[in-house]
Amino acid sequence: MLALLRPELWHLSVWLLAGLLLGFWLDAWLGMLCLVLLTYLLMQLRQLARLVRWLERDDGAEPPEAGGLWGRLFDILWRRQRTAQSEIHRLQGRLARIEESGQALRDGVVMVDERGDLEWWNPAAQRFLGLHRDKDRGQPILNLLRDPHFVAYFETGVYQAPLLLPSPVLEKVQLECQITRFGENERLMVIRDVSRQQRLERMRQDFVANVSHELRTPLTVLAGYLETFVDGSQDLPPRWRRGLVQMHQQSRRMEHLVKDLLMLSQLESSVLESDREPLPVARLLESIRQDALAVSAEQSHSDASPSGSSHSISLEADAQLFLLGSEQELRSAISNLVVNAVKYTPPGTEILLRWQLENGGARLEVIDSGKGIEPQHLARLTERFYRIDKDRSSTTGGTGLGLAIVKHVMLRHQGRLEIRSEVGEGSRFICHFPASRLANS
Ligand code: ADP
Repeated sequence: MLALLRPELWHLSVWLLAGLLLGFWLDAWLGMLCLVLLTYLLMQLRQLARLVRWLERDDGAEPPEAGGLWGRLFDILWRRQRTAQSEIHRLQGRLARIEESGQALRDGVVMVDERGDLEWWNPAAQRFLGLHRDKDRGQPILNLLRDPHFVAYFETGVYQAPLLLPSPVLEKVQLECQITRFGENERLMVIRDVSRQQRLERMRQDFVANVSHELRTPLTVLAGYLETFVDGSQDLPPRWRRGLVQMHQQSRRMEHLVKDLLMLSQLESSVLESDREPLPVARLLESIRQDALAVSAEQSHSDASPSGSSHSISLEADAQLFLLGSEQELRSAISNLVVNAVKYTPPGTEILLRWQLENGGARLEVIDSGKGIEPQHLARLTERFYRIDKDRSSTTGGTGLGLAIVKHVMLRHQGRLEIRSEVGEGSRFICHFPASRLANS
């Protein structure tokens, strides 16, 4: 500190000494002392004024010449200013690059501030959403994008999955919109044109639906004739008879496959139409239970099980609890689960159907005490054509589409399918329904 001030203090001392000497000589040492100090003060003020003027100009010009402490101060400020300026240039360059790449992106990008107002967007977003460069900046996004699905998606604040929505300005353009939160509750929206993928997906669905539809009639005819032949095959040689029986079984299996494929295409391509009347689930379950008992009796008969017993299927259902949904779809989904419990557990096994309230909705459970499913299969069971034991499934007439149908039906009812199983203990298939799908009698 003292070292820093030393030249300045030396300078001041020389001035004071010279002033004092002149003051003694003129016999006015006090006056001269004041004059020296005043001059020194004025010189400091002048340097300060030069500094302020230079800082205010801020035109990149070099600082004024100065000596001593002022000169050092000017140098330090000048160096700092130059570093800050080059940093600003670097950041500006980077910002320009980011903006340039944003402009060149084929996907739309929109930045929305914490109040939900539009902050920035790129030309692709402008094209997809019909935004106006000057007019729309600062406008609430929900004033411009009024699609009810988008409004619901934006307002939920949960953006795990992207949203599909039609472009509000471009005909036949389907957009996929994914929102990500960043900063302080600001949102970044990425918008992709997925019309081509959607078209291809629709073509795939149509193809499967058409093929299944076209196969249905010839298969029905084949299976019908084969059934007649099997019925009248008592006099045929055993080899022929075995062949006919197998052909009949396989044609029936193909019929089931085609029926399940058609059902899946319908679930994928149509909008859910709920029945107007709430569905009495308890009654539906009782009717499914009766059908399943018949399947079980048939199975134990054909398996020629030593006990000859069929499954014991019990029902615990809240008769006051009704469901809003499609009876046809729900019957098909629940039947799949119950018939699976019959198909994949040995005769005599206990099966329980349960329908009751749960936190935030209701649950329908199909519980069996069969041999259970190994954990590595659980996550894949709802994939199409996924079967654990392919040989056994084909003898039980399984298509591998049953659980895929259940999953789709649940999704269409805003529910979800949960599968729990313990090897050696049994399996539990749980359909969770949201409260919005419930109705009381
Ligand atoms: P599938 O038509 O073959 O029955 P699903 O999609 O209904 O097709 O079932 C897929 C596979 O899940 C079945 O092949 C079977 O291996 C297994 N599975 C389904 N339900 C049960 C169950 N209750 N117990 C044991 N395994 C089951």
